[in-house]
Amino acid sequence: MKEMRYDTCVVGGGAAGISAAISAAKNGARVLLVESTSVLGGDLLSGLPIDGCLTTAGEWIVGGVLTELLEGCEKLDGYIGAIYDRRNIWVVMVSPAVMGYVVLQKLAEHGVDILPYTQVTDVKVEGGHIASLLAKNKTEQILITADTYIDCTGDGDISYMCGVPYEMGGADGELQPMTMVFHIRGVDPKRLLAFALEHPENCGLGENPNIKKTPRELAQELYDLGIPKLFFSSKGPLLKGAIERGELNTSMLAFNPNAKDGSVLTVNTTRQSGKDCLSGEALGETMLSLTEQVKSAFLFIKNNIPGCEKAVFDGIAPRLGVRETRRIKGEYYLTGEEVAEGTKRTDGVAKGGHEIDVHGAGTNHIRKTIKDAGAYDIPFGCLLPLGVDNLLMAGRCISADRVAHSSARVMGTCIAMGEAVGLAAAIGKEMGIPARKVDVQTLRERLKKQGAKV
Ligand SMILES: Cc1cc2nc3c(=O)[nH]c(=O)nc-3n(C[C@H](O)[C@H](O)[C@H](O)COP(=O)(O)OP(=O)(O)OC[C@H]3O[C@@H](n4cnc5c(N)ncnc54)[C@H](O)[C@@H]3O)c2cc1C
Repeated sequence: MKEMRYDTCVVGGGAAGISAAISAAKNGARVLLVESTSVLGGDLLSGLPIDGCLTTAGEWIVGGVLTELLEGCEKLDGYIGAIYDRRNIWVVMVSPAVMGYVVLQKLAEHGVDILPYTQVTDVKVEGGHIASLLAKNKTEQILITADTYIDCTGDGDISYMCGVPYEMGGADGELQPMTMVFHIRGVDPKRLLAFALEHPENCGLGENPNIKKTPRELAQELYDLGIPKLFFSSKGPLLKGAIERGELNTSMLAFNPNAKDGSVLTVNTTRQSGKDCLSGEALGETMLSLTEQVKSAFLFIKNNIPGCEKAVFDGIAPRLGVRETRRIKGEYYLTGEEVAEGTKRTDGVAKGGHEIDVHGAGTNHIRKTIKDAGAYDIPFGCLLPLGVDNLLMAGRCISADRVAHSSARVMGTCIAMGEAVGLAAAIGKEMGIPARKVDVQTLRERLKKQGAKV
């Protein structure tokens, strides 16, 4: 068996994991990032908007590593910008292909070692301390040792293997649906936006009760902007009819622009509910069955949405979208009330600002704005799994109730959390103390210094 020794080992290379790895490495730690696929950046490569970077009021609440990634995209003409959707949220749009390159470029620049195509399959825990991880790939079994381990697996695999308690789903075990995201190109954005202007009732515009403009005024603003960031609601006649006729199975259809001219869109609409999102078999069945929904959604768009008549199917996102699995119990448990209230805390190490956003089966979908269009703080304790002294976590597995999770799971917030734990690992190394014992105020000061928002 091969042995590898690092200061920090980050497991999982999604939005949270790449940020944790970059943040630890840029602060002097020797970092290994282990990822079971070859997709470094996770859903940053899906074409979906990066949510949670700005509040509903348009204030940036994530900086640091996110800024570095966006500047990297901008240099390569792959940054489309921050866009207010006139429904409720600000989103950040990039070219996913450019972002995929920039993620690798930044990992290289900061000296992160990566182990793609490698899965962590076991942990050795001794007295509440991880002694080592066991990882496997095609040719090797690898024993990894590190001072600090960071669980960014989305599913909380490492914490789960360590026996940390967790929660999953609602009271009835319901999980948010899985989605196969797809892309279209050859869209005529002017015609599409003119359609939204003629029929704003379809587009969820002004869903936030604090928006004082009419849907038509908001549609006009989007038309003038020229970028088709559109959200078709299941309450509008267009989608309602399609759902009733059985042409679509969804609570919404979101268009997300991936090119500056608005001609390339990523579509978020398909749904598979009621499956075990951790089972390989169920994931496989879902991947196959959602191909039919992708086909009918594409045909629906082409046949019913002006501006999309000449659209060409441009393939699917690199991976199946899983919204919700384990929520690992940590030293602090963030609640939906705290998120809704935009609660500020002195031990906050990342900020969340995305709406409460629980997708359900069929047309069920809970969306709720944060109070005063503000942001809430994520305490360091949410990133500290219970009972394992050298393990931290970030991303969609953090310690929160289901409602809080529905907001904190978005990519901008995952990047911010990753940055915090990566830096904590590096400071722990510097000071010769466990990362979770790093003084929160010191961590906050250092986060500010590297451009993060706390
Ligand atoms: C359909 C869909 C639409 C969404 N829409 C948006 C949106 O519009 N905007 C937004 O901001 N967010 C959106 N989200 C949420 C967001 O994309 C995710 O919650 C977020 O990207 C999670 O990031 P993460 O790093 O925590 O986890 P992940 O991206 O899941 O990364 C975890 C990584 O860990 C790896 N891994 C897992 N287990 C192991 C192991 N044992 N060993 C090695 N590697 C392992 C996985 O391969 C994966 O790459 C959406 C999610 C879905 C599913």
